[in-house]
Amino acid sequence: MKIHEYQAKQLFAQYGVPVPEGYAAFSVPEAMAAADKLPGPVWVVKAQIHAGGRGLGGGVKVCKSKEEVRERSQQILGMMLKTHQTGPEGQLVRRLYIEGGADIKRELYLGMLLDRDVGKIVVMASTEGGMNIEDVAHNTPELISKVWIDPSVGVQAFQGRALAFKLGMTGKTVNAFVKTLNSLYELYMAKDCSLVEINPLVVQGDGSVIALDGKVNFDDNAMYRHPDIMAFRDLDEEDPREIEASKYDLNYVHLDGNVGCLVNGAGLAMATMDILKHYGSEPANFLDVGGGATAEKVTAAFKIILSDKRVHAIFVNIFGGIMKCDTIAEGVVTAAKEVGLDRPLVVRLEGTNVELGKQILRDSGLPILTGNDMKDGAQKAVEAAKQYAAAHA
Ligand code: ADP
Ligand code: MG
Repeated sequence: MKIHEYQAKQLFAQYGVPVPEGYAAFSVPEAMAAADKLPGPVWVVKAQIHAGGRGLGGGVKVCKSKEEVRERSQQILGMMLKTHQTGPEGQLVRRLYIEGGADIKRELYLGMLLDRDVGKIVVMASTEGGMNIEDVAHNTPELISKVWIDPSVGVQAFQGRALAFKLGMTGKTVNAFVKTLNSLYELYMAKDCSLVEINPLVVQGDGSVIALDGKVNFDDNAMYRHPDIMAFRDLDEEDPREIEASKYDLNYVHLDGNVGCLVNGAGLAMATMDILKHYGSEPANFLDVGGGATAEKVTAAFKIILSDKRVHAIFVNIFGGIMKCDTIAEGVVTAAKEVGLDRPLVVRLEGTNVELGKQILRDSGLPILTGNDMKDGAQKAVEAAKQYAAAHA
């Protein structure tokens, strides 16, 4: 789960990570009221969307007067903000954050996430903050310093100091940084985070450090024990198909391709996406309907896939073990009849009750293409998607 920058900063403040004073605003009058609460002489108007790179996209504006705050708020609220993380159509800005301007001397990067290879949290820090950290990691990895935290003892003071020195810090800035790092780790553990990032972490003119941006992601599986974090959820920022899928306990991830996939088992779902790519298409989604799916669940899954107009063909790839092929077939037929099958559908069934499943498909009278095996099914789905796209261009 993701949250907004202003919500991340509320958590930062709660755990002792210094942040500028600021207030969320849902309208221009609210933005003005927020500006009135801040001393000035510099205000920053910041678009709140669940994507980074807002500054480059025009969603972060430094203002020298309250009149400017009004103009910028009017401009940014309601805009379709395009960044490298939003996709080409951009994301509608519905919320703003108005905060005090910081006295920036240096912009650094500080982040932590789970390093699955070693089973520890890795802390990453860099002097190259404010920029796209992915580019830094790719082009100049030597500019990113890392330390790994032993979960039995937590962050050690020497680790914090080592990073501070690598970041070129001196004097009281070192201690301020070590304290910030400890607070961040405490937050990470307490709230079951999967990523915490401050970019930029700023060193101010007086030597203090302050978080000018905040990104916090959470482990969805732990959210049942964090109602305070769940209250931060903003459904406007989530893919409507993923919200719908979560209601039915489907493991669905929306992707950018044009072949919809309905598969049982995460491993088979991954392999299905691979084989579609291999034959020249891109998957429109990842979908694992799970082992114990009912016909109702399959129907819901099918509808979600069809609701994506970018889907030019659907590939149902089922290996019936616990999941029975006739259940899948029933769900597919019900959904196809309910919503109308307006795009080519390729079904490959194998395993428990396969003959029964195939019979249901044949009896349905629907124009369903049969994949004899996974390879054959994938090739047919890729071909069908190409033909559909050409016919509807
Ligand atoms: P994003 O990463 O989405 O572009 P940031 O919050 O990092 O958004 O803001 C982009 C840049 O705007 C920062 O790198 C910083 O230079 C500037 N900035 C952001 N907040 C403030 C602030 N409160 N005071 C001064 N400058 C700011
Ligand atoms: Mg940033």
